[in-house]
Amino acid sequence: MTAITNLLDLDPAQLIAYCGELGEKPFRAKQLQRWIHQFGVSDFEAMTDLAKSLRDKLTGRACVSSPVVISDHTSTDGTRKWLLDVGQGNAIETVFIPEENRGTLCISTQAGCAVNCRFCSTGKQGFNRNLTVAEIIGQLWMAEFELRKTKGIPVGHKGERQITNVVMMGMGEPLLNFEPTVTALKLMLDDNAYGLSRRRVTLSTSGVVPMIDKLSQECAVALAVSLHASNDSLRDSLIPLNKKHPLAELMAACRRYLEFAPRDFVTFEYCMLDAVNDSDQHARELIELVRTVPCKFNLIPFNPFPESGLKRSNNQRIKAFAQILTDAGLVTTIRKTRGDDIDAACGQLAGEVQDRTRVQERMQKQAEYQKKFGPNFGQIVEIT
Ligand code: SAH
Ligand code: SF4
Repeated sequence: MTAITNLLDLDPAQLIAYCGELGEKPFRAKQLQRWIHQFGVSDFEAMTDLAKSLRDKLTGRACVSSPVVISDHTSTDGTRKWLLDVGQGNAIETVFIPEENRGTLCISTQAGCAVNCRFCSTGKQGFNRNLTVAEIIGQLWMAEFELRKTKGIPVGHKGERQITNVVMMGMGEPLLNFEPTVTALKLMLDDNAYGLSRRRVTLSTSGVVPMIDKLSQECAVALAVSLHASNDSLRDSLIPLNKKHPLAELMAACRRYLEFAPRDFVTFEYCMLDAVNDSDQHARELIELVRTVPCKFNLIPFNPFPESGLKRSNNQRIKAFAQILTDAGLVTTIRKTRGDDIDAACGQLAGEVQDRTRVQERMQKQAEYQKKFGPNFGQIVEIT
């Protein structure tokens, strides 16, 4: 018996090849792709303009299957978070952040992460495994059609797009799961799938230099780089990967990337850690560091977790830091924390899940926290 092919695993070219193997013409693949990614249909029988013979061939040979939803929470401000089961006790998070003119989905690319940044709870859990294409694009597929369903738009109809922007800022380092990430990106951009512009899809990396170059050649989307430090010794202590790819190399890679990027700047993310990286001197050093890289800054108030031993900079410090950057001509935004003092960053909840029992423990713990700190607990970001 042949294995069942999950069609969410296939990019546009692979779907054409797959249909070819079934003796079908390329336009059939395009039709099929639209049914799946634009209409949210997973039942081949419901794909009414496909020949009955093709529907019969697909049934039993193929499926359209995204990760199973373990939980689905919507906060009062509309932010919606799904916890998804990716097997063997691993779970990942996907977060939808609605704003006035856009809807942004934050997706994960790995279960856990091997980079082990000092301030990141996902990293502290270690690396579990890479997500497949179906698990990455499946987050967008599931979220888009769940959001439509909530709005009363039935599956099988071309409805108003709910997700207008995607950020790869959930769990994992996307550039260390390169091929599946790029395949998923290609589907996001394809006109017969989601048709997102490259400017509206952002990949965030901790700085895997050779892969930044590779991305510029294979699928140059908007780039965000997690900087978090103004010099090598500080960055070495926060992001171990910096020892392999130090700042000078990283800055050069950003400059090279901009030759191919859809935007004319790189976004630098900078997590504000009390008395670690948040002094005036750090801000001035940062200005010097990025002097030759067209960029914008996004300051992220640190989301504390007990084992980190780190604290969030106070609001006054964050504002003063932002002012120094702004005065030097750098566009700087501060990511607004939603909810209460004790928030969990995107990816932190799922990062701790090791098995089904722990999933339930965590869900129980989250419910307790939500009771204590309000429904926004666990929702962190709103870019101001
Ligand atoms: N691995 C990629 C993308 C996922 S992390 C990367 O590191 O860029 C997305 C963003 O959240 C990164 O900028 C990361 O540094 C930040 N982040 C991680 N842990 C955090 C925490 N505890 N508080 C605030 N931001 C955090
Ligand atoms: Fe991995 Fe990003 Fe977390 Fe660092 S910040 S451990 S790279 S997910």
